[in-house]
Amino acid sequence: MNRSTASLSRRDFLYRAAAVGGSALLLNTMNAWGMGIASKVTAPPALSGSGKGRKVVILGAGVAGLSAAFELRKLGYEVQVLEARSFAGGRCQTARKGFSLQELGGEAQHCRFDEGHYINHGPWRIPLDHQSTLYYTRLFDVPLEVIVNENDHAFVYLEDGGPLSKQRLRGAQIKADMRGHVAELLAKTVQGRQLDARLSADDQMLLLDYLTREGALERGDLAYKGRNGRGYAVNPGAGLAPGAGTPSDPLAFHDLLAAKVGKVYSAVQDFPMHATMFQPVGGMDAIPRAFAKRLGNAIRYNAEVQRIRQNGDKVTVDVRDAASGKRSSV
Ligand SMILES: Cc1cc2nc3c(=O)[nH]c(=O)nc-3n(C[C@H](O)[C@H](O)[C@H](O)COP(=O)(O)OP(=O)(O)OC[C@H]3O[C@@H](n4cnc5c(N)ncnc54)[C@H](O)[C@@H]3O)c2cc1C
Repeated sequence: MNRSTASLSRRDFLYRAAAVGGSALLLNTMNAWGMGIASKVTAPPALSGSGKGRKVVILGAGVAGLSAAFELRKLGYEVQVLEARSFAGGRCQTARKGFSLQELGGEAQHCRFDEGHYINHGPWRIPLDHQSTLYYTRLFDVPLEVIVNENDHAFVYLEDGGPLSKQRLRGAQIKADMRGHVAELLAKTVQGRQLDARLSADDQMLLLDYLTREGALERGDLAYKGRNGRGYAVNPGAGLAPGAGTPSDPLAFHDLLAAKVGKVYSAVQDFPMHATMFQPVGGMDAIPRAFAKRLGNAIRYNAEVQRIRQNGDKVTVDVRDAASGKRSSV
């Protein structure tokens, strides 16, 4: 290892990884170090050392700035968070009655929801792998509830052309029919001996058994004719006149292919897009609010950082007060 490599800090290395490989390489590098999205840790990395007698200025009271401030204060640093806006949380925002936001173009957005309603217009899902976020929700007693990220019975509108364009369908219909049609195609390929070179006779039997169940195929002709999981044309009855229900017809394979339905599945198959995730009860901003409450006046609001100067061992941060326009230095 030469001198320049030996003196490369972790931060420098991450900058360079991002410059060369973009955010994908950056995230992979952080994951490899146990710092990233796929981290197995159940709490943020433990910081060591003492900050007694040292001052740290943090730019921005987003969740990154808030958690850094919270952790550094525990080590004894004197922390000042400079936040340009009048509230903490950064992109982690929740709009409810009375919430207003000035967009960069100057346009003001005012939330006029009924009492008790809200929308998380920034982050809204906490997957089970986001252990650091979950750690803080436990630490701050922020109650969580399950959020349904993928609902097969929600309606889907396919836009990519073909006969199914703009039709209101349910995810369950699309998934059942694609699984059925693809299973039928593969099963008939096996039956036609076209996979003999690839699969042993035993494996072909096992595959046929799997496909028959996976695609709800008829045992005899291996045809897919629909399944009740896609919904009925007439639902089964109950009560005084119970009926078996009228099965619904599957969507045609060609029509599904023409609609490029792969998009319907793919989004929720990526890590960490689980079907169920967590959300704070009452709004995602419960997390930054909990940090802000603990940090108190260590956060300076309406403090827009305009310039950072560094010489020797001193850093000066020039700030404009977004409310009054007054300028000062920290
Ligand atoms: C629409 C949307 C949906 C998302 N969904 C999810 C999700 O479901 N789950 C998830 O985990 N993540 C999600 N994310 C990502 C998540 O919101 C961000 O990763 C996270 O909020 C970033 O936090 P941060 O502190 O790094 O940055 P930010 O939240 O951007 O915070 C930066 C802060 O710096 C302040 N600031 C900027 N310039 C200055 C200045 N000159 N002076 C002073 N202060 C300044 C800003 O006002 C802001 O408060 C989503 C993001 C968006 C936008």
